[in-house]
Amino acid sequence: QTIGDFFDDMVAKQPGREALVSRHEGKRFTYLELQTESNRLASALLNLGLKPGDRIGIWSHNNAPWVLMQIATAKVGLILVNINPAYRTSEVEYALNKVGCKALVSMSQFKTSDYLGMLRELGPAKLPTLQHIVWIDKPGEGVKEGMQRFSDLLASGDPADARIAQIGKTLKANDAVNIQFTSGTTGFPKGATLTHRNILNNGFFIGECMKLTPQDRLCIPVPLYHCFGMVLGNLACLTHGSAIVYPNDGFDPITVLETVQAEKCTGLHGVPTMFIAELDHPRFKEFDLSTLRTGIMAGSPCPTEVMKRVVEQMHLREITIAYGMTETSPVSCQSSTDTPLEKRVSTVGTVQPHIDIKIVDPLTGAVVKRGESGEFCTRGYSVMLGYWEDEAKTREAIDAEDWMHTGDLATMDAEGYVNIVGRIKDLVIRGGENIYPREIEEFLYRHPKVQDVQVVGLPDKKYGEELCAWIISKPGQTVSEDEVRDFCKGQIAHYKVPKYIKFVPEFPMTVTGKIQKFKIRDAMKDELG
Ligand code: ATP
Ligand code: MG
Repeated sequence: QTIGDFFDDMVAKQPGREALVSRHEGKRFTYLELQTESNRLASALLNLGLKPGDRIGIWSHNNAPWVLMQIATAKVGLILVNINPAYRTSEVEYALNKVGCKALVSMSQFKTSDYLGMLRELGPAKLPTLQHIVWIDKPGEGVKEGMQRFSDLLASGDPADARIAQIGKTLKANDAVNIQFTSGTTGFPKGATLTHRNILNNGFFIGECMKLTPQDRLCIPVPLYHCFGMVLGNLACLTHGSAIVYPNDGFDPITVLETVQAEKCTGLHGVPTMFIAELDHPRFKEFDLSTLRTGIMAGSPCPTEVMKRVVEQMHLREITIAYGMTETSPVSCQSSTDTPLEKRVSTVGTVQPHIDIKIVDPLTGAVVKRGESGEFCTRGYSVMLGYWEDEAKTREAIDAEDWMHTGDLATMDAEGYVNIVGRIKDLVIRGGENIYPREIEEFLYRHPKVQDVQVVGLPDKKYGEELCAWIISKPGQTVSEDEVRDFCKGQIAHYKVPKYIKFVPEFPMTVTGKIQKFKIRDAMKDELG
């Protein structure tokens, strides 16, 4: 089955149920309305002259046009290319050209970013494959030269267009449906090519772990351009007949809390930094979050302390942690709502059905003993086709036996629960001792004045590497280096106490809220000379 088939079956089961609420746009769609509008859009895209296999980009924050694009492109065999709203001219130029996009649907502007201005600046000379620029207009906004309004495009389509069903019949589950760029946490983003089978199945199994039903309403503040929003959010909901709820077009903790209360959401997704911002907001206690039940924390290491607070203070008693990466559709491990709380807050759960995993010594490739750490490798329906037109990079990631090498270090306990201990690239080796920055972060996070902390390794002549901690202190609190060192004394081994401690107002982050440790390392290298 393809995404389109699965969606149409769900619509037939419950046409009148709410499918999508976009709060900031003031829009609501039932399943039937979502089907009608996405069919209308699919027809309109074909009217532009686009054909199955063509790439079409979407460069926008979360909104209704995004979901319509996700469904419409899947129905008529177009490959949707997710473009990060944080990208600027050179990055968008790279992404669009890398995959040869013929069309692009873009926001007009957002806060101080002028998206259409950036596209004009690039112009046809720098975007040779791009034939159509469509911008997401608001009611009453005028025309713009050389660009089409989304509302006009949509109006040109016919929801009953016979071509949609004709093309639908020719599509296969293993056809590419989506190109997603990785977050760029460790360097340059890579374009992973994903199929219907990849993301439809993954979305379904994620929803199963959360026990989603048509009664559920999931608040999705995480970005759609990333698999967290479009698969763990949109597809998990659409495969279970649940409602998708977007609080806002950028992240803002208050709007999330207001939305959960107003829409009686039963689920909430977030990366750890989002949950921390919500929990620590001075107005947090004003909101009634008692409808919440489930949700997912993922994307980066999820501190146990944060999980515990989310369970106790946000009523998210069935929240799970998911672990995955863009290249694997994305989720490989997730606990279920049935998993004992202790395991749910402290591990990434067990392996998803129908995929194989192994944990190997990164140097020898031999499978490690239970409980020992090694590189997490996975194989099965969830592994991407490859990086778009990049054979060399694909072969670096996926070996001859189809194992995807994730670059993440993991352990598995006797009962099959997996822990992610860090990225191979972040592992610090100080004087021959392996140090997992994650462990030190978890420890320092327990200091009452510490709001958030990141630990990296810096090159050192004597020890090879030295630890460095960047700390954000709690609002209104000041902490000193000595206080932090005293806190460590006698609690963790001396070699694990960071040599460099720096207090900062924020961390370098991707738009998904993932912390870019390579930027912390670079900044420290500059500072230390
Ligand atoms: P890039 O590949 O461009 O450097 P990225 O790896 O951050 O960026 P994504 O595919 O968005 O891009 O993220 C996947 C990575 O996020 C995983 O490989 C893992 O390192 C990390 N991650 C995801 N979920 C978890 C989790 N629950 N716990 C710890 N780490 C996680
Ligand atoms: Mg990665």
